Amino acid sequence: MSFPDSLSHLIRTDEPLAPLVWLGIGGPAHYFAQPSDNQELSQLVVAASQAKLPVRVLGSGSNVLVREAGVDGLVISLGQIAGGDVIVEGTKLSVGAGVKLSHAVIEAVGAGLAGLEHLIGIPGTVGGAVVGNASSGGRDIGSAVESITVLEPSGETTTLAQEEVGFSHRKTSLSGVTVLRVNFALEDRDVSQLTKRMQKLWINRNSARPNEERRIAMPFIDPDGMPVRELLDSVGLSGMREGDVSLDAQQPQYLIAHAGATSDQCLKLIERVREQVLLQTGIDLQLNLQIW
Ligand SMILES: Cc1cc2nc3c(=O)[nH]c(=O)nc-3n(C[C@H](O)[C@H](O)[C@H](O)COP(=O)(O)OP(=O)(O)OC[C@H]3O[C@@H](n4cnc5c(N)ncnc54)[C@H](O)[C@@H]3O)c2cc1C
Repeated sequence: MSFPDSLSHLIRTDEPLAPLVWLGIGGPAHYFAQPSDNQELSQLVVAASQAKLPVRVLGSGSNVLVREAGVDGLVISLGQIAGGDVIVEGTKLSVGAGVKLSHAVIEAVGAGLAGLEHLIGIPGTVGGAVVGNASSGGRDIGSAVESITVLEPSGETTTLAQEEVGFSHRKTSLSGVTVLRVNFALEDRDVSQLTKRMQKLWINRNSARPNEERRIAMPFIDPDGMPVRELLDSVGLSGMREGDVSLDAQQPQYLIAHAGATSDQCLKLIERVREQVLLQTGIDLQLNLQIW
């Protein structure tokens, strides 16, 4: 397909995606763009929609596994739109979707606003966190969301109230839209107490993460009532390996792509883990990781 002339300077073809995702593997995007503002983003989405070209939005790539074959259609990276787009008004926090989640949490805590601090240290953007209803310590991001603004494939923007987003355990009912902005309703708290709490949570999170380079993912959703780490450990799958991909030996909820890893190996390991867990416990482990 050809994009309108006004957009052609934004479009790259066969762009490698591996450097843009945490696992650092996978093939290219057939078409790729990194708009610098929401207007360019909207024009790209509309052009792709008119050409019936599938669109995928990339935040920080901490929850995406790209297959070796790459991605047909248009991948739009929000990396250039991030900015410092965080607005505090009373107990409300409004954040651009491309802003890093931890940055938004730090801003909230600095303003004495509670409700997001348990999410400190979760990699990724606010948009990615909302789409996947990121959670930690049994609390999800959705519970602090008041509304979100989304871009429709037609180019229209719509504001959805919390109950329209369809938040459930590690998912939402959002589909085919791009999250542009997230508005949180938070609670007034003492800044220094909140800061201490956040720092403690951050230290705990970092100490529980494998001491590896960045090529890591958290592929599975905690099943009801049990952290996936305990489940995988209890069925003896810690450290399980497939080629150059393994579950971490101490923290098996993390999948690590070692040098030479491929997406096929990741997919095989995930399938073997799911089979073993089903066989040994009857639990059908659900995937958090998005497979592109
Ligand atoms: C080390 C590590 C620890 C993690 N710990 C946790 C944890 O404790 N809790 C937890 O819930 N998750 C955790 N995750 C998973 C991951 O960090 C979250 O899912 C995160 O919210 C993904 O954000 P992202 O910007 O990287 O999204 P991406 O990986 O870029 O995208 C994920 C999905 O969201 C979609 N998406 C992203 N932005 C938008 C947007 N603006 N509009 C529409 N769709 C969009 C993408 O199309 C894709 O389908 C962890 C991951 C890693 C690697």
